[in-house]
Amino acid sequence: MRYPTLERDGYALARLDELAAAARAHSLWYLSFGLACCAVEMMHAAGARYDMDRFGLIPRGSPRHADLMIVAGTLTNKMARAIRQVYDQMAEPRYVISMGSCANGGGYYHYSYSVVRGCDRIIPVDVYVPGCPPTAEALVYGILQLQRKIRGEQRIAR
Ligand code: SF4
Repeated sequence: MRYPTLERDGYALARLDELAAAARAHSLWYLSFGLACCAVEMMHAAGARYDMDRFGLIPRGSPRHADLMIVAGTLTNKMARAIRQVYDQMAEPRYVISMGSCANGGGYYHYSYSVVRGCDRIIPVDVYVPGCPPTAEALVYGILQLQRKIRGEQRIAR
């Protein structure tokens, strides 16, 4: 089939779900929610050098404005209930990046009585970023992977 092009035909066709997925992938508003030292690398990624804004990522102070949570740091049992509550308050469709060994599986504190052995025991995770701490580049790479995943979603609603 011969697809119309803007240059030749003056118009283009696209599927609505693909347009919605592209818009969603490139306008992720993330909750500034740092739990421990990984949060410093998250701040680094948001700063001038890596400038996450250019990928459409804008930090938000309220979960009701956010559709991405970056779990950056050690999740303790005491904090687990709060993180679930904040996750439930976020806008749909919502996504989660687990950043660093602690969030991925407890990390150094895996055998501690007070640490959750992976934030995916509390909330669903879309992308895991390994490392202790992961570099800002690794987080940016994780974000690119999440955008790729969202662009592949073939539906309007999650
Ligand atoms: S993974 Fe390492 S840098 Fe990140 S919160 Fe745990 S101990 Fe800190």
